[in-house]
Amino acid sequence: MGRVAFASHHPSATYIFRMRLRVSSMVFGVAVSLATLVLLYQVLSLPPDTHTPGDEKEMVSLESRLRRLENNIQSNQHTISEIKNLVHLLAKTNSKANSMLGPQFGVVVGNKFMRNGINTVGVAEIPRDHKTGQVAGDGSAVVYNLTSATIMQDDCIFAQSTPPATDILMEKVYNQLKFDNPDGGAWKQGWEIQYDVSQWSPEKKLRVFVVPHSHNDPGWIKTFEQYYHDQTRHILDHMVEKLSQDQRRKFIWAEISFFSLWWEQQPESVRNTVRNLVERGQLEIVMGGWVMNDEANSHYYAILHQLTEGHEWLALNLGVKPNNGWAIDPFGLTPTMAYLLKRMGMENMVVQRIHYAVKKHLAREHSLEFVWRQIWDPNSSTDIFCHTLPFYSYDIPHTCGPDPKVCCQFDFNRLPGSGITCPWRVPPQRITDSNVKARSQMLLDQYRKKAQLFRTNVLMVPLGDDFRYVRPEEWDNQFTNYQAIFDYLNSNPELHVEAQFGTLADYFRAVQEESGSSGAEGEARGVEGGAPFPTLAGDFFTYADRDDHYWSGYYTSRPFHKSLDRVLEGYLKGAEALYSLMLGIQSAAGIAGGQGGSSEGERLGEALMGKLVDARRSLALFQHHDGITGTAKDHVVVDYANKLIKSVDNCQHVIQQAAHYLLSINQRTYKSDPNAVYYELGEKFTEHNKPASRMVLGLQVGSVIPAVVYNPDAHRRHHLLTIRTSSPYVEISNPKGEALRCQVNPVFMKPGEASPTMFDVTFLVDLPPVSLATYTVKALQPASVNMKLVSYGKVTVRNMAAPTLPEVFTVGEEDGGGSGQPPITLKTPQLQATFSSAGLLQSITTQDHTLPVSLQFVKYGVMNHHETSGAYLFLPDKEAVPVTPGGSGVVVVRGPLLSSIRTQFSHILHTVTLSNSPGVDGMSLDIHNLVDIRAERNFEFAMRLSTNIKSGDIFYTDLNGFQIIKRMRYDKLPLQANYYPMPSQLFIQDPDNRFSILSAQPLGGASLKSGQMEVMLDRRLNQDDHRGVGQGVLDNLLTPNVFRLLLEPRLKAKESVSGEDGLMSYPSLLAHATLHDILYPIYSLLPTAKTGQMQNTWGVTGELPCDVHLVNLRTMVDPPRATLGPASRLTPHPPSPNTALTLHRLGFDCGFKSPGLSCSTNGGKVRLSEVFPQTFREQVQQMSLSMMYEGVDMTKSYTLSLQPMELYTFKLSRS
Ligand SMILES: [Zn+2]
Repeated sequence: MGRVAFASHHPSATYIFRMRLRVSSMVFGVAVSLATLVLLYQVLSLPPDTHTPGDEKEMVSLESRLRRLENNIQSNQHTISEIKNLVHLLAKTNSKANSMLGPQFGVVVGNKFMRNGINTVGVAEIPRDHKTGQVAGDGSAVVYNLTSATIMQDDCIFAQSTPPATDILMEKVYNQLKFDNPDGGAWKQGWEIQYDVSQWSPEKKLRVFVVPHSHNDPGWIKTFEQYYHDQTRHILDHMVEKLSQDQRRKFIWAEISFFSLWWEQQPESVRNTVRNLVERGQLEIVMGGWVMNDEANSHYYAILHQLTEGHEWLALNLGVKPNNGWAIDPFGLTPTMAYLLKRMGMENMVVQRIHYAVKKHLAREHSLEFVWRQIWDPNSSTDIFCHTLPFYSYDIPHTCGPDPKVCCQFDFNRLPGSGITCPWRVPPQRITDSNVKARSQMLLDQYRKKAQLFRTNVLMVPLGDDFRYVRPEEWDNQFTNYQAIFDYLNSNPELHVEAQFGTLADYFRAVQEESGSSGAEGEARGVEGGAPFPTLAGDFFTYADRDDHYWSGYYTSRPFHKSLDRVLEGYLKGAEALYSLMLGIQSAAGIAGGQGGSSEGERLGEALMGKLVDARRSLALFQHHDGITGTAKDHVVVDYANKLIKSVDNCQHVIQQAAHYLLSINQRTYKSDPNAVYYELGEKFTEHNKPASRMVLGLQVGSVIPAVVYNPDAHRRHHLLTIRTSSPYVEISNPKGEALRCQVNPVFMKPGEASPTMFDVTFLVDLPPVSLATYTVKALQPASVNMKLVSYGKVTVRNMAAPTLPEVFTVGEEDGGGSGQPPITLKTPQLQATFSSAGLLQSITTQDHTLPVSLQFVKYGVMNHHETSGAYLFLPDKEAVPVTPGGSGVVVVRGPLLSSIRTQFSHILHTVTLSNSPGVDGMSLDIHNLVDIRAERNFEFAMRLSTNIKSGDIFYTDLNGFQIIKRMRYDKLPLQANYYPMPSQLFIQDPDNRFSILSAQPLGGASLKSGQMEVMLDRRLNQDDHRGVGQGVLDNLLTPNVFRLLLEPRLKAKESVSGEDGLMSYPSLLAHATLHDILYPIYSLLPTAKTGQMQNTWGVTGELPCDVHLVNLRTMVDPPRATLGPASRLTPHPPSPNTALTLHRLGFDCGFKSPGLSCSTNGGKVRLSEVFPQTFREQVQQMSLSMMYEGVDMTKSYTLSLQPMELYTFKLSRS
């Protein structure tokens, strides 16, 4: 498949100062912290807090507390009567339950992942006569005193304001276009371009820059390593030789993953040659990411990460700072990229894959070069200059001009005898004295036509394709033949042309010279007599390259790996933060040693950094546009998966090592063992094609096991945590030693059978920001279990025989049964949901609002055409049809903390859980699906939610988890064009309610009818879709996917949420927190051996405001370091003394309540001395996002004022 793109001025350090950061020495508003005092929950009592967000003055007054206490008495009475009812019910169901119990258990089955507790693996002794019916003691739902965020009124203004207009708004372009796809002739998707030669003159020449490039996919048809071995290393070898031969030759390179691998194998002489080539401007590193990332499925955390990885490598090895983005192959484009590149200090970018009808429109308007502006940007500081390649592809036939038949003749790698031909059946001719005139004029005609589409007389002509310039002859053929043409053109002044090889830097410099504009600043003063470059806001999804071939399949292809990507992102972020804080503590304790030392702390830091770097690079690699997109060949997908699960393992290793250090009693005398496994994390990936296995804590009566819980988020979290144990007879204590309420649930191995040896124990944890806390699991004799604290999940079933359960559990028939079959209700004080007898959601009630919801599973077939759905394309046969539930019956488990309903359908194990938690996990419905469509043929499987929300043809999706974009459903477009990337959320709304699907993994989504939302869960396709991968998608796996459904009534009904004023939209604070909850979960660490005396808690970090998110805390690396002496060794990635802290101030909509949050907003004020009081030096420096450029110097105690939607990176130092 031809896949291919391009920008350049040297950014000065001053650009940083234009970033929207204000540093002031204002006193930090302390008042807000008052609100956090109100946290503690109570077991029975207060009704939900009635704080309305936005009411900043509302403080907890004694009066209102008294009023609540009064209400309480009433609600307690209500609770007591509920308990009575429950006891009654239990008494009824219990006798029946006992008779249904299956075989008794007595041994712990050998489980590969079973972990010993402190003692040897436990065998729970179960006295046969133990009665469990009395559990009822306190089986009622726990009622909490809910907190909500305290919001400063001014913080609501941003989301309500309308930023300045832009010249081109993509939403309007879509409204306007007919999408009628007329045949344009030679330029099939365009028109016959005419031109007048008098537009050029000796003073006004056409300046042509031919940009040689080679697009190297880090994995697609071959794995990354295979490509490197077979092609890439040769390309780079020859590049050094061929560029050195003639200083007029130029080349650009993008993928640092390949470049770094090659570099490591070069002698210093070659490295120096490369440095010279860069210095002379012959070689330009463009974008400089580890890969050219996908833009639809990737999360901004990972995009920022993969670009930083590349930029860091470049800084350490080549001393280069890329200035121009180059994204010629990603299948649709996001403004998030434009934002990130801008804030990294880049000035221009080149893109290619834009819908052909949109391209044609931009070309007609002379707007293929535009200033891309964030749709939310109030003052145009996000503007970046963007060049769009005008034609179908980035290959040579589609880059010299509008006629591919002509352009192909100027691909001198296709000379007769080369083995590669032109599909238009006219081969290239070697340039000779006799044909140079004719050939040059033929090419010039294409250049001139192409130039008609742009506002300047500067023309960029990329010259390359996928994995080009492998053989030395190709270099020679391209360079010598083009040079002959350039020489001819340049020596005939009457042609008014000046042609040469160029880099993006050369091209953009020339554009700037002519237009007098610095594209990056958007201060376009315009070309002579022409208009300035237009500004544009919006995105470029969903991409179509021709006809109705919309690339919306890859939003979902290989969903198992898309899910694994997000899992790894969570672990990596968690590992980075804990690792960086560990080094910070070591430094503060004076044990990190000086440069080149070999202190204890340094040894540990270096050993763990190797694992971290390995994980960083694997995650970065997977962001490639054939990685997370699911568009590589099967064996390449397996290669990626192996790298990802190894990286999860590496991150888990770093987390548990750092936790062990941080919890150690004496950090100064700590003896490290970098390979030791002190703790296993709660889940483990052992095979590249299987979901993670839950670890089981082996318990023996009398064991007291300290389980460590890690909160990687920079906000306090109240949250339910589940640990899997081998015994149901437990007592859970918090770090203070107080026994906690807990709920023990059965672990179902199949619908009719729960494991006799595994139990899920759930309890509420309370975790400060970025902290570790030790909760104790004590294994008891059955008779010793305190029934006031421990509740056993009550199991009921409908439409199935009672399952086999360990005897601690009761089982009954879900009430109703028989005829009529009322809905099944699950309920917490915060939420209520009803389900059909088949186990499918029917309604959600929260905050006194009830929304009828119909959840369905539907399927699409494939269009019966020559070209049909494959890894890239979604070409459905017709509207989706419901998949009749082949349900195996419904299993419901209820208890005071967790209630769930679970049904096995023919393609999916579907579980919905309600958490009774005072934290954000208690405010939304959790959906867990395990999808299996391996038995199907050409089958695309989606989950659909239908409601009565009057959303019309408008819905909202996110871009890269960074921003929300409004979508319109168009009848003029085919169904597949109305599918959009859903990297983390999709919502619909009307004046009264917003209903969101928050997703733990990127998938495709749509709203195909008013009130409806659907998410594609998996796709199995039996054929190739002719975009180069050469196979179908038949390697489907048992795939987990996780969602939260969030219903949010609007505090004040809006008059309108659509139309002009609805251009922008923002999630609520609760939606943000819920997303962080599923992307960056709380991790449990189960000890593998006796840990000895440890601290119970660790945490050194202050809490960030509600709307400030800790994106990353990433220790940078130093160049490889050799340690001499008897223990000589090479440390390839020693940690540098610098840590990059990236913060994101979220844009949010104040129109909704924020129950479950306990934080406040304060106008975006952050003081790093309060966030990191004990770690890092006083001196802090603001940096560009990927640490390439230095900004403002400051101290930790400065008060930073962060602007909504903006990301900031700061350099923290340890020593
Ligand atoms: Zn590619």
